[in-house]
Amino acid sequence: MKTETILVHGEQSFDPVTGAVSVPIYQSATFRHPALGQSTGYDYSRALNPTRSSLEKALALAEHGKYGLGFSSGMGAVSCLIKLFKPADHIIVSADLYGGTYRLFSEYYEKYGFSFSWVDTSDFEQVEKNFTPQTKALFIETPSNPMMKVSDIRRCADFIHSKNGYLIVDNTFLTPWLQNPLDFGADFVIHSGTKYLAGHHDTLSGFIIHSNEEAEKTLREIQMSEGATLAPFDAWLTLRGLKTLALRMEKSSRNAGQIAYWLRKNPAVEKVFWIGFPDHPQYELSRRQSRGFGGMISFYVKDASIVPLILKKVSLILFAESLGGTDTLITYPVVQTHSAIPEAMRLAAGVNDRLLRLAVGIEDAGDLIADLEQALKV
Ligand SMILES: *Cc1c(COP(=O)(O)O)cnc(C)c1O
Repeated sequence: MKTETILVHGEQSFDPVTGAVSVPIYQSATFRHPALGQSTGYDYSRALNPTRSSLEKALALAEHGKYGLGFSSGMGAVSCLIKLFKPADHIIVSADLYGGTYRLFSEYYEKYGFSFSWVDTSDFEQVEKNFTPQTKALFIETPSNPMMKVSDIRRCADFIHSKNGYLIVDNTFLTPWLQNPLDFGADFVIHSGTKYLAGHHDTLSGFIIHSNEEAEKTLREIQMSEGATLAPFDAWLTLRGLKTLALRMEKSSRNAGQIAYWLRKNPAVEKVFWIGFPDHPQYELSRRQSRGFGGMISFYVKDASIVPLILKKVSLILFAESLGGTDTLITYPVVQTHSAIPEAMRLAAGVNDRLLRLAVGIEDAGDLIADLEQALKV
């Protein structure tokens, strides 16, 4: 089946008992056993819940994996996955990535003895250079957040596999509609379902998708033990979001392309980062490993002093954290998504006080451009 169909139907898009065409919200913490030693397969919702299971199966199919695990947020998924590793293990991580992931690793997991190297993984030589005998995994975001650098999934996978490690890809930005990292050798895919998958700025969710039978046992155990599992109603909202993912991604990507070219010509703008420009350094790589460019754009304005004005003047575009929903959002990474990253590292990655990030929604592109035009006029 094609991805569009999988996103709408999942494994089974109706309830086998009642025929309900919307997967029911099984708002039950616990499940009755018919007799000792008998079970419907469900005991307690921290372990398994039917609404969550439907979603987990749909996402596993969409990402070309065997298994899917649903969490109460993207960070819940990341935290669970890192527990596959042990203290003294070393992980190479994209330097330019979601600030919350940086905070979790550097402030918490380092305290427990894990070690991380923050590397520009779009430059493969840097990956090789930072490998140590303790390195057990590569954790990449591609395209990266917010500088839109693209890492070579196949090359990273081949390298880390030759060293018996795992490749983890955070695929939040492109979603299974535009990129399937498992097809290029990744071992685990992470999603913040809060973003494109759910898609309406109304719920948090997170996922791990993979095909490793042995790891599946451990991950289920960790998920169940920690309890950061996805609630039935939030699972249902994410399932509903998935049904329109393909349509929303197409529209959002098209809008982003129009806005990126428009921004390039605006006199207040110095540089635009969008992976769809043919002169983007990894344009050919994107064409090989993804099927589109997504809805994310970052840009430098020439003068940092106009940033507060822009953020105040946008009216249709909302000044808010997050991305991936129906509504276009503008973010100031320095004070929002990337505030947890130390200044020197942030600046080295290019995240300075002149950088703004646009998460383009599905409104009319002309209306969005008109809003940007009046906001950028100083
Ligand atoms: C938002 C985000 C996360 C964290 O997800 P939450 O659902 O907010 O916990 C992780 N990675 C990326 C790329 C994100 O954008």
